[in-house]
Amino acid sequence: MICLFPGSFDPPTMGHIDLARRAAKLFDRVIVAVMINPEKRPLFTAEERIDLIGRCLWDCPNVEARAGRGLTLDMAREAGAGVLLRGLRGEGDAGFEAQLAAANRHVGGVETLAMFTSPEYGYISSTIVRDVMRHGGSLKGLVPPEIEDILAKKAFE
Ligand code: ADP
Repeated sequence: MICLFPGSFDPPTMGHIDLARRAAKLFDRVIVAVMINPEKRPLFTAEERIDLIGRCLWDCPNVEARAGRGLTLDMAREAGAGVLLRGLRGEGDAGFEAQLAAANRHVGGVETLAMFTSPEYGYISSTIVRDVMRHGGSLKGLVPPEIEDILAKKAFE
């Protein structure tokens, strides 16, 4: 079974990477779909986000990152993915994720599985990482060590 893990990953965090690693043990293949949303102005280009994910997950041969446009359910179909994967940090995420899962099932007949965050990463979001970057704070523990320096440098661009 192939699973598609869609998101913005702007940038990827410890929470995202932990989830992808855990999913890699459950599925034959995990495709991390870096979704391009024309309504959002991301800090990192899709190519940069794919590169960052690759640096964090180089040791997981059954995980791959690629860019996606449009509906995630169309991307899942094209990739041959039988299921969508999403992460839950707590009650805050649950309502929205339930709505999204129902819509994807209704429109595309695709199921969504949600995995709970590891508690130590439950407070981490890309928004928090971007804030810390902007103010020159330490990214230790928020993002994988493989990309700490790249993000710190980006903050000065
Ligand atoms: P989106 O804009 O689609 O929510 P994100 O990049 O913010 O994209 O998140 C992608 C997925 O990863 C979502 O399912 C989100 O709930 C999950 N996620 C984000 N942060 C964490 C975390 N710290 N722990 C577990 N899952 C997370």
